[in-house]
Amino acid sequence: MADVQLDFLGSLRRTHMCGELRASDAGQPVLLMGWVHRRRDLGGVIFIHLRDREGITQLVFDESRNAAAHKRAQELGLEFVMAVEGVVTTRTPETVNPNIATGEVEVAVSKIWILNESRTPPFPLEDNVDVKEDIRLKYRYVDLRRPRMQRNIIMRAKIALAVRQALYGQGFLEIETPFMTRSTPEGARDYLVPSRVQPGNFYALPQSPQIFKQLLMVSGYERYFQIVRCFRDEDLRADRQPEFTQIDLEMSFPQEEQIFEVIEPLIWRVCQAAGQTVEEKIPRITYAEAMRSYGSDKPDLRVPPFHCVEDLFADAGLSADGLPLVAIHIPKIGQLSRKERDEIKAFGQERGLRVFDDAKRLERDYPEAIAKTRERARVAEGDLLMLAAWAGEPSGALPEHTVLQACGQLRLYIAQKYNDRHGLLDPESFKFLWVADFPMFEWDEEDQRWNAAHHPFTSVHDADLEKLTTDPAHCRAKSYDLVLNGIELGSGSIRIHRRDVQSKVFAALGFSEEEAKRRFGFLLEALEYGAPPHGGIALGLDRLVMILAGEQSIREVIPFPKTAKGTDLMCEAPSPVPERQLRDLGIRLNVPQ
Ligand code: ASP
Repeated sequence: MADVQLDFLGSLRRTHMCGELRASDAGQPVLLMGWVHRRRDLGGVIFIHLRDREGITQLVFDESRNAAAHKRAQELGLEFVMAVEGVVTTRTPETVNPNIATGEVEVAVSKIWILNESRTPPFPLEDNVDVKEDIRLKYRYVDLRRPRMQRNIIMRAKIALAVRQALYGQGFLEIETPFMTRSTPEGARDYLVPSRVQPGNFYALPQSPQIFKQLLMVSGYERYFQIVRCFRDEDLRADRQPEFTQIDLEMSFPQEEQIFEVIEPLIWRVCQAAGQTVEEKIPRITYAEAMRSYGSDKPDLRVPPFHCVEDLFADAGLSADGLPLVAIHIPKIGQLSRKERDEIKAFGQERGLRVFDDAKRLERDYPEAIAKTRERARVAEGDLLMLAAWAGEPSGALPEHTVLQACGQLRLYIAQKYNDRHGLLDPESFKFLWVADFPMFEWDEEDQRWNAAHHPFTSVHDADLEKLTTDPAHCRAKSYDLVLNGIELGSGSIRIHRRDVQSKVFAALGFSEEEAKRRFGFLLEALEYGAPPHGGIALGLDRLVMILAGEQSIREVIPFPKTAKGTDLMCEAPSPVPERQLRDLGIRLNVPQ
């Protein structure tokens, strides 16, 4: 780095932030501090864009007015840190910069302090330059200075504040739960922390505070929340982070309805904090309805539902007996070419579907049924209407489910592919939805057993309690998901608060009483000490902020994220540790080279 004489901060204090000054401040003396964002040297006059968190102000160093300040300004490089004293002046109309909030003014500098220099940044700090993500993550502290990242991280903080305000306002208490704990039951692998003082023993980092929040209800705290880090050692998938943040809450004596009543105003407030307006009431459908109308448990409501029309085509033989015939309707696509229709058919075929795409032919062969289908789906001129059915015999335990799911994928495929024609998938349109009454269990083909669809502490519908052991496939859970634009934002449930019911559920899951005691003994015991009915939910903060910020990846809204391989490129974690540290922990490595 060049040898620049640096000044002390001393007793200097800023009077304004760089985003604040307006024409009405003209004539005011000010003291600003920040970073050199841009620099333009015209010889006798140097212009600097000074940047801080709140914005940018143009500084003017005019040699004819203040030679000393102008001389020092010549030493400045990009990202140098500085303080300036000067007077706010209005710009002439032709030099006004409409792109920045302070564009009507500039500061004529009389004094300058250079507080620190900077190496040339590894990439330009502009939003619209294409920088490889690896470089951005290695120099994250520089990347985080870019206006887009600042906007995202500031939005995240505002959203967290809105969450706190909403929940404190409804009587929730923010209570911490441990990070060093025992394995929790969210179905992923745990990150383990070895204990030095108890060699051979490990803590687990929580996959969620699930058990602790339930215990807080047993302890009588009534309404708990936390904006909390969760840790899951899952296989690498795009846009997953090993640590992520949830808005986690739990309350005592709730019906599902009351959980929705807590979350809906929270969502409204959060969206408002992000500058978006949404409906106050979030619509709700059951899992069964979601499957029948969207072929998905996380429907994207921006695209209209599909319709099961096997009743209208009763004798046509288009679908196998007892299986759905699905009318897929996507508005405003217009004429599709032969090739485009073939692509759609091929996509369906790959998923086991037979697609009837020839509207004219369908019209000719089944005029009445098609007319009724159009009416049911409210198909207008220029909309796309296709029928789909299963091509052969669907495999799996729930054939109808398999067919509907494939149709759901086809619906989304067409919607996404032709979005430029209908524009329905507008990222600025936020369609929230509750999906409730999920099945209690999912069949695990590999292990040939039932797994908890949510987690093993979820209540079964009162009416299905008897079916727990006799007919697990048809037990509905008191569980619910919050979905936004086809993305699951979070899920929750009413919990089991009775020891006897919990035992039955463990039995249905194939846990022996001993195993249940070994894994969750303290929770089971707590249920015997006056556990109130309780329930809650956890929402993914990262995803919520991502969608509201219009970003495609959660890494854009997490200050220090890891790569898809779980690496922190900046501090190079995970990393080997010195042999001595391992010895202290009683650990010997056995890693294949
Ligand atoms: N603990 C659950 C999860 O992390 C959420 C809940 O049931 O409240 O998905």
